[in-house]
Amino acid sequence: MVHLQPKAQVADVVVIGSGAGGGTVVKVLTDLGVNVTLLEAGGMVNPETDFKQGMWPYEVQHRGTGPNAEYYRGTMQDGFFAAPNSFWQDPNEPYTVAPDSKFTWFRSRVIGGRTNHFGRFTPRFSDYDFKPYSFDGLGTDWPMDYTEMSPYFDKAELFVGVSGANSGLRSAPDGKFQPVPPPRVHEVLVQKAGQKLGIPVIPARQAMMTKAQNGREACHYCAQCGRGCKSGAAYSSSQAMIFPALKTGRLTIVTGAMARELVLDDTGKVTAVSYIDKATRTEQQIRCRTVVLAASACESARLLLNSKSALFPDGLANSSGAVGKYLTDTLAFSHWGYVPALEGVPRHNSDGLGGNHVYIPWWLLDDKTKDFPRGYHIQMGGGFNMPGIGGFNDLAWNYEGYGTKLKQRIRQSYGSQVSFTGFGEMIPNKDTYCEIDPDGKTDIYGIPVLRFHWKWSDYELNTVGHIRQTLRSIIETMGGTVNGDDPTLTNAQRITTGGSVIHEVGTIRMGDDPSQAPLNRYCQAHDVKNLFVADAAPFVSNPEKNPTLAIIALAWRTAEYLAEELRKGNV
Ligand SMILES: Cc1cc2nc3c(=O)[nH]c(=O)nc-3n(C[C@H](O)[C@H](O)[C@H](O)COP(=O)(O)OP(=O)(O)OC[C@H]3O[C@@H](n4cnc5c(N)ncnc54)[C@H](O)[C@@H]3O)c2cc1C
Ligand code: SF4
Repeated sequence: MVHLQPKAQVADVVVIGSGAGGGTVVKVLTDLGVNVTLLEAGGMVNPETDFKQGMWPYEVQHRGTGPNAEYYRGTMQDGFFAAPNSFWQDPNEPYTVAPDSKFTWFRSRVIGGRTNHFGRFTPRFSDYDFKPYSFDGLGTDWPMDYTEMSPYFDKAELFVGVSGANSGLRSAPDGKFQPVPPPRVHEVLVQKAGQKLGIPVIPARQAMMTKAQNGREACHYCAQCGRGCKSGAAYSSSQAMIFPALKTGRLTIVTGAMARELVLDDTGKVTAVSYIDKATRTEQQIRCRTVVLAASACESARLLLNSKSALFPDGLANSSGAVGKYLTDTLAFSHWGYVPALEGVPRHNSDGLGGNHVYIPWWLLDDKTKDFPRGYHIQMGGGFNMPGIGGFNDLAWNYEGYGTKLKQRIRQSYGSQVSFTGFGEMIPNKDTYCEIDPDGKTDIYGIPVLRFHWKWSDYELNTVGHIRQTLRSIIETMGGTVNGDDPTLTNAQRITTGGSVIHEVGTIRMGDDPSQAPLNRYCQAHDVKNLFVADAAPFVSNPEKNPTLAIIALAWRTAEYLAEELRKGNV
């Protein structure tokens, strides 16, 4: 493709993508006095008008059965109440999946990226998570350890506002938490079952503030975080990081800008970012001194792989050949249970935080007898939630009859279902990666798309088997019965589709050896000194703990390093 003449002005730092990673870099750099230009493929977000917090089911046209009726046609990609501009499939921005592989990719195109939508369960990684190879001989160690990362987890938790409590457990490290609300009725029953089974059930860690700070209000316990939190109590990078950074006067935002390629000079330094202005469908360039990729793990890998040149014929910063490799997602398995003790509980407001008040951290760290190497944690759901659109479809499956008797039966049992999901660690393997589609498929902007390869190994399949047994024993210890378990299924049929837990990491990993890893210990490309990566692509492993707090902590560290390198004139 022909490159346009770069515009004369040179930005100090161009950040690509405004999610957890990009938002953090923007916040830290602008706080440190650095001027930043942010390129974001999506549009601006206005929480007041775009978020669905406080919306009632009756405000959805015909309760979802209207002209489009997506829910009933099975074409609904995200909830009616979800924060805006997210999708699993977009005909304008396709991807492909290799034969014999299954993969699905949730993306978001809006300022703040997927942090507008995410579940906000934000545990910090443990010491052993940074040293997986040393721990059990599988995978690769990170180039730094927990001691080095701990201050950045502190900064992330304090700034983001994470509710939780110290537990003194190695698998759930202590942190800098805001007060956590008490457990709800179903969570108390889980705690009691946990005591009987010897399974810890401890306060959850959620990026939902119970105390106001930094211009964001405290939570008022409406349980609607996934819809977008207008008061900003639930962390999103848009509200917590990007909007305050704009007020410094040091941030320029270009929305609707789909980065296509990084442009090099003869010495192999990035001199500009080439992007498609989505509104005019024209190609533009912005010149820069340094660039930070934060487009999400797979999009950042795609950008590097699409940036081919004589110096880097296999993609920029890819002399190791590792860009796109080592891709992982979290594995998951869920069970619902019917718990008679919760039938007929007096009606009360059980909304609380829009997520767990308690959870089960990994508790078998020292067990060497199990048939899988790593671990999992368990999250849960229950209580008297507002019935969702189409929610009574499910009840109609469960109960026969009509009229008053049917209503009484439904009322009596409402709130007696408790759900559990175990989230487990995947070990990187050579069969799971992304690459540029070899058949030349492009998106609507003419940018070559990714093709995904996916394979779960026995490590993950056996983890699923263990999760299933654990969930069953918890539900039964609560006096309940498991719903809909099919004992004839194999673990390969039970495990989630790759990508569906939305924790993709590892595609541009960090490491001290340039022949093995594209990035150094500060997430700076070994091959290209003015190129940094600040999303989950640099992760060396994918612990069972959700990744976003670690993305923020790592991006914070990268941004501080970059600011110092800029000050010294090294980049
Ligand atoms: C429903 C849901 C629930 C989740 N729950 C949790 C949870 O409980 N805990 C947890 O830790 N994580 C959770 N996650 C995952 C979490 O959202 C991600 O880990 C996090 O948002 C990743 O941040 P990021 O900065 O890497 O990417 P993103 O948040 O995806 O942001 C990337 C941004 O880059 C932009 N972009 C992409 N390509 C380009 C391009 N070429 N040019 C310019 N801009 C581009 C995108 O538009 C987007 O705004 C969840 C995600 C979802 C969707
Ligand atoms: S539960 Fe709290 S954090 Fe979540 S949307 Fe409501 S007010 Fe915001």
